[in-house]
Amino acid sequence: MTSSSPSLIQPTKSRVVAKDLRALLGVEKVLDDGPALTAYAVDASIYRVPPQAVVLVESEDDIAATVSYAVSRGIPLTPRAAGTNLTGSAIGSGIILDVSRMNRILEVNREERWARVQPGIVLAELNKQLSSQGLLFGPDPSSGDMCKLGGMIANNSSGPHTLRYGSVKDNIQSLRLCLTSSSWIEARSYALNDPTLERLLTSVPALRDVLVLTQAHADLIAAKQPNVSKNSCGYNLFGVADGLAQGHFDLPKLFVGSEGTLGIVSEAKIMLAAKPAATLTALIHFQSLEEIGQAVPQLLTLQPSALEVMDANTLNLIGRGKHGIPDDAAATLLVELDADSLEIDLREKADVMAAICRSYKLASELTVAFDAAQREQLWKARKALYPTLYRFSAKKKPINFVDDVVVPAERISELIRYVEEFFGGQQVPVAIFGHIGNGNAHIVPLLDVNDTGDFQKMVQAYQEIHATVLNRFGGSICGEHGDGRVRAGFVKTMFGEELYDLFVQVKKAFDPGNILNPGIKLSEAPFTDHIDYTRLSKSCATCAKCNSVCPVYDVFQSEDMSARGWFEIVTANDYSYLNSKRVVESCLNCKSCRTICPAGVDVSDLILQKRAEHPNRFAGWIFRRQAQGTVFDAFLHVLADTQRLWDRPAFRRLLERITAPIMKMLAPTARLPHDLVLPKLAQRHLRERHGHLIPNGTDSSPSKTVAYFHGCAANYFDDGVGDAVIEVLKKHGVDPALPPQRCSGTPIQTYGHVDLAREGARFNLRSLAPYETIVTGCASCTLMLKDYPTLFQDGEDRQQAEALAKRVIHISEFVARSAEHPPMAHAHGTTKRVTYHSSCHLRAAGVTKEPRQVLSSMPGVNFVEMQDADRCAGGAGTYIVKDYAISQKIFDRKARAITQAGANIVATSCPACMIQLKNGLGDSVQVKHVAQLLQEAYQAAEQEKS
Ligand SMILES: Cc1cc2nc3c(=O)[nH]c(=O)nc-3n(C[C@H](O)[C@H](O)[C@H](O)COP(=O)(O)OP(=O)(O)OC[C@H]3O[C@@H](n4cnc5c(N)ncnc54)[C@H](O)[C@@H]3O)c2cc1C
Ligand code: SF4
Ligand code: SF4
Repeated sequence: MTSSSPSLIQPTKSRVVAKDLRALLGVEKVLDDGPALTAYAVDASIYRVPPQAVVLVESEDDIAATVSYAVSRGIPLTPRAAGTNLTGSAIGSGIILDVSRMNRILEVNREERWARVQPGIVLAELNKQLSSQGLLFGPDPSSGDMCKLGGMIANNSSGPHTLRYGSVKDNIQSLRLCLTSSSWIEARSYALNDPTLERLLTSVPALRDVLVLTQAHADLIAAKQPNVSKNSCGYNLFGVADGLAQGHFDLPKLFVGSEGTLGIVSEAKIMLAAKPAATLTALIHFQSLEEIGQAVPQLLTLQPSALEVMDANTLNLIGRGKHGIPDDAAATLLVELDADSLEIDLREKADVMAAICRSYKLASELTVAFDAAQREQLWKARKALYPTLYRFSAKKKPINFVDDVVVPAERISELIRYVEEFFGGQQVPVAIFGHIGNGNAHIVPLLDVNDTGDFQKMVQAYQEIHATVLNRFGGSICGEHGDGRVRAGFVKTMFGEELYDLFVQVKKAFDPGNILNPGIKLSEAPFTDHIDYTRLSKSCATCAKCNSVCPVYDVFQSEDMSARGWFEIVTANDYSYLNSKRVVESCLNCKSCRTICPAGVDVSDLILQKRAEHPNRFAGWIFRRQAQGTVFDAFLHVLADTQRLWDRPAFRRLLERITAPIMKMLAPTARLPHDLVLPKLAQRHLRERHGHLIPNGTDSSPSKTVAYFHGCAANYFDDGVGDAVIEVLKKHGVDPALPPQRCSGTPIQTYGHVDLAREGARFNLRSLAPYETIVTGCASCTLMLKDYPTLFQDGEDRQQAEALAKRVIHISEFVARSAEHPPMAHAHGTTKRVTYHSSCHLRAAGVTKEPRQVLSSMPGVNFVEMQDADRCAGGAGTYIVKDYAISQKIFDRKARAITQAGANIVATSCPACMIQLKNGLGDSVQVKHVAQLLQEAYQAAEQEKS
């Protein structure tokens, strides 16, 4: 326990802004406690600006009320979606208006290929839902797993597939927007002679101002239009002018890319594209950067949907060995080709592509993938590039300040060479990657901004590289990431005084009080203002990838209840457990954040460390009793013997009430809900049923080589898992031992008892030491045993733990790798549709393919992959009783996925997940452990034989 006395920062009622907003919108939608403000002080940029209050809007009324309040009080208002922008445009010093809870698809028109969506929907979610209709939204930032439509629209985002689909501005039919004048407008393209337009111009004078101003300065605007394939710098008066020239006032062109500075988007009508019939992805390592430059125009004739480059430095920084990149690769190209119909033979195109590339010096043969999973693998490193660079050094971090320049595509090699030489001269490592087909390069130097020398190099590079892009290459300083805070100060240099002045007039017309996102897009402030020096020496890239898998964020859609937010909260200088208890105790310890984080951050572990400073006493008392064994086991026996009496509806209601005060000792939200389907307790525990497998206490060198680590659930519950694992092992010719064992430690650690977990680990290390292989059936035990080295700094325990970690294997892995192939037969009358819920801890242990492999190999099993198979089901050991309401909300998504998969059976690899699945699914779908299905298949074969 820490002795530091925490300074309490309560969600105070004295904070006027939040108090007023609560009165307007309700308590639930407004945050201003310390942890929330800490979490919302950052986005994925290099900046930090703590707000005064956060509003989680749920409707247009909420937006309108917040806007009008901010305007009436002159408080800055910053709209925010996923907060993945790299420019500091979703943070602000006033009110943050988070649209994440407005995340529905309102309508899809398949024939006309459009959809109406709310701004809080995540791109990946949108495309997942559209996929069943053969449609997609084309613009695809690499942050697509986490970024949301509102942010994409406001930033005019695009991505690797811009070549095929264009940027967001090319894919929007109309927007609904709330302006600071309190008017709502439908921003679509209006014919200049449309009477509706005249009415609109009359009711919203700002629109007339922009129309008149654009017409009056058409020549200036045309003269200043950057001559490159994409540009997001400044307001898009170029698009507006183009529209006017063709007789239209194209309002989406004005608002897309305006970075929340002109109005708040509450709804968008987006254009959809047909999903390609087939796709191929190729990875090509060139020996010469210049030759890539020559190959690009040739490859463009194949009309690729994506053409991406990573330069030599980038390949070095992400690790060539790890990604199988040859030492002599000077740069790598990622090419994607789509076929719109099955008649088009992509293999022929692949041959042409290969012929083009082979006419240059390649560092290795091309890798070409048609299969979706393999293609995804090829993209994985590219998409996670920026946060992956965070692993490079504890001090030097990838800093986004010249990250988005655009030059003519045919000059991209020249640009890369120039940038490499520039940073070579500064002796600064730099990664250069991006959309080579568009001439859009992401330049990310690695710097220690806390070092004066590096800081000066950053300022020098900012000025010189941007100036060179403009003067030598005739390019743009911003292709897709937006101006935000980082480029706002350079917009005037890019376009000159006159056009800049028009931009200022546009802003004033819509937002005379400078309420909406001040300091963003247009600013005289240096780009170094508000840099978060403290955070830039930490390990987290604030990319929000972890939020995309965090089940708590999925439910709350609020940054203070998210993995990224928790990193900020628990690593803040003013962190205190008391202030942050609400959030720190909400983590499920599902480890999904750790599994996905490209920067190698383990948020769950940071949270466990904080919980360890305040271990839960009641949980500790229980775990100590359990470790002692006899009394605990006897108590469970009594419960098992009487379960049919107390586990009846009326009794359970009573039990819920009686146990309420005890449960409160676990957590304020903890209870034993009367309707929770409890697992059946075993009247004879697994170890009693299989006593003959327990090694003789005097036998210090047992003859058996394989131990089964059953864990608590398989021992205490009558769920069939333990028996199945033992039977399956026997079928594979293994007679397992059941050495003495204590709880692996996952729940113990979750409640903050690290010392107790360590004590149990020591016991298990000694007990398991004699065995060559330790088979597990529980996902959490698998991960915990593999994680034992993290419990010990050094010494013999550490060595033993490292050795153990290598010997632990889940039963599904064991079977998948086994040389034995016992006969299996159809275990059920009819073929069963089986889907797989991939338990979080098994994923974290790296076991994902084997359970699927095993299931697919069973006769009579039609294996179907469910959507969201890799998402937490919400059980998380005891979380189901710690916070039943949240755990069930988390489960909703899983239930939908299972229903959509149309499965009769959900298989999983974890007895703890089975409790949640059985509780949530009732009798509608059977829930089985992979080992149980295997056991049934082996038994069916036996029966057939006899
Ligand atoms: C790892 C990584 C990779 C990336 N790759 C790409 C890429 O390939 N291409 C690319 O273009 N970008 C990329 N980005 C940048 C970023 O992800 C995109 O700009 C994204 O579209 C921002 O969406 P968001 O939901 O995070 O928006 P936020 O960051 O929340 O907001 C972005 C802007 O939108 C405004 N805004 C949000 N909602 C609204 C609303 N309802 N009304 C008005 N304004 C609103 C905000 O005020 C802000 O100005 C990447 C970022 C990361 C971290
Ligand atoms: S913890 Fe990892 S995934 Fe999450 S925001 Fe930080 S770097 Fe990104
Ligand atoms: S462990 Fe799970 S619940 Fe906790 S922060 Fe990570 S993803 Fe979120």
